[in-house]
Amino acid sequence: MSNEEVAQEDQLDAIVIGAGFGGLYMLYKLRGLGLNARILEAGDGVGGTWYWNRYPGARCDVPSLQYSYQFSRQLEQEWDWKERYAPQAEIMAYANHVADRFELRPHIQFGTRVAAAHFNDAAGRWLVSTEAGQQLSADYCVMATGCLSAANDPQFPGRDSFAGGWYHTGRWPHEGVDFSGKRVGVIGTGSSAIQSIPIIAEQAEHLYVFQRTPNYSIPAHNGPQDSEEERDIRARYPEYRKYLREQQIGWDVHANERTAEECSADEIRAECERRWRLGGLYFYGSFADLLSNQQANDIVADFVREKIRGRVDDPAVAELLSPKSVIGCKRICADTGYFETYNRDNVTLVDISGTPIDEITPAGVRVGELTYQVDAIVSATGFDAMTGSLQRIDIRGVGGLPLAEKWSAGPRTFLGLTTAGFPNLFVICGPGSPSVFTNMINAIEQHGDFVADSIEYLRDHDLRRIEATVEAEDAWVDQVNEVAGETLLLGCNSWYLGANVPGKPRVFMPYVGFPDYIEKCESVAANGYEGFQLS
Ligand code: NAP
Repeated sequence: MSNEEVAQEDQLDAIVIGAGFGGLYMLYKLRGLGLNARILEAGDGVGGTWYWNRYPGARCDVPSLQYSYQFSRQLEQEWDWKERYAPQAEIMAYANHVADRFELRPHIQFGTRVAAAHFNDAAGRWLVSTEAGQQLSADYCVMATGCLSAANDPQFPGRDSFAGGWYHTGRWPHEGVDFSGKRVGVIGTGSSAIQSIPIIAEQAEHLYVFQRTPNYSIPAHNGPQDSEEERDIRARYPEYRKYLREQQIGWDVHANERTAEECSADEIRAECERRWRLGGLYFYGSFADLLSNQQANDIVADFVREKIRGRVDDPAVAELLSPKSVIGCKRICADTGYFETYNRDNVTLVDISGTPIDEITPAGVRVGELTYQVDAIVSATGFDAMTGSLQRIDIRGVGGLPLAEKWSAGPRTFLGLTTAGFPNLFVICGPGSPSVFTNMINAIEQHGDFVADSIEYLRDHDLRRIEATVEAEDAWVDQVNEVAGETLLLGCNSWYLGANVPGKPRVFMPYVGFPDYIEKCESVAANGYEGFQLS
């Protein structure tokens, strides 16, 4: 079908794919410009990652007062966060409130999974096709498909033969799962597993945790939202948000400006203890050289390993649970009673670092000679991060070039927002953007503003097409690599590098450094969208 043949009601100015926090904000901005914009969303509700990740214990690891929109001063004042770290249900309630309060819902088409998006050079428009066969046409296409939304659910041999229930944390049944009296296997020990394991252990008759690599996790110290803190921040929200945007990772980790190198052993110890009390991801702010100086990193990692030994009764189990890699190289986890869960009689840690899972049998999980008999398996195996959700759509640019082909050796973008050869296509928090290395909602709003401003600029200058130049893209890819290369982040098999998905090119995907990134975007815009071809 050509763009002209698309039904009148599906001829749009802009199509946004995904109704998570990125898509909702993009829709709000585009409608604010007076554009006829629509979101296409695979799920039956808004919320994106929080819509799908309903596993037991799912909650945010960034404090609620920071993990929230800032575009509406009224919204900031009227929404009461109940917990310091909001659970999934509370974040979903917030996303629904936003969709209603800003009258976005009528412009969202739910239950609609996009299969393809092709650029028609002659028409200068995108033709978007859904799995149900609907075709839509628009000048602009915005991918708000999420960084951690394409589930990585390994196809272990024999998987389909398993007689019990199989659940991926990122695709959790909406009605919940009752593990009472069941023998359960959890595969993986990343953030999702670390949050769900303590709760599943309380329900299950027996829990087997299959661990390939241990992770650093710090107690979150979650609790009710402190009302005094809330009052204080609300009274100075604009200034507080500005401060957050000036932070390297886009949220307030109480960053210590001193390096470990310049501190005495006592000072280092005191700082680590202070971080332990702050909890969770505040460890990222422990020392200015945490992610650039191996010695500094070793000291902090040793401290956390010592704490793990203090939390786990059996020294052999504690040793298995102690990560050996750079701390912060994979995202640090925030937990509630995670390590203590291994002190329970009904929990067994199965080390699969040397002997991987051989197969899934009808009765359970076979590792070497042993089969662990289970009634249910939780695959907490993460995501095909940052590129997965884009590459699962058949996206084609100028001359029919498939995005998957262009990115076969790894993603290439300009600013993580656009890619050469794909005019008028924007990605919210794409590879090459700070996104997952920041407070996501903060990054999302910065991206949404950039996209809306670009479109407004085109309109004001009687232009219709914006496309990154290959030169700007090449320079940006070099810049992303160069910045990452100055850190310790390349030294472990993280999903930032795509190392968790077999066969995925090993490329460090996020851009490290939110304030520099904002400055770059602002300078690009101020210089008439330098690095883009406008026509
Ligand atoms: P993840 O961090 O990628 O962890 C996946 C786990 O599954 C790892 O332990 C991995 O082991 C294991 N695994 C993968 N494939 C396997 C296989 N074939 N056999 C055995 N084990 C396998 O995924 P996640 O826990 O879902 O978290 C992903 C990201 O989502 C987090 O880093 C975080 O950014 C975000 N998240 C945030 C929150 C929060 O806000 N609190 C909660 C959940 C998730 P290896 O390490 O050896 O690869």
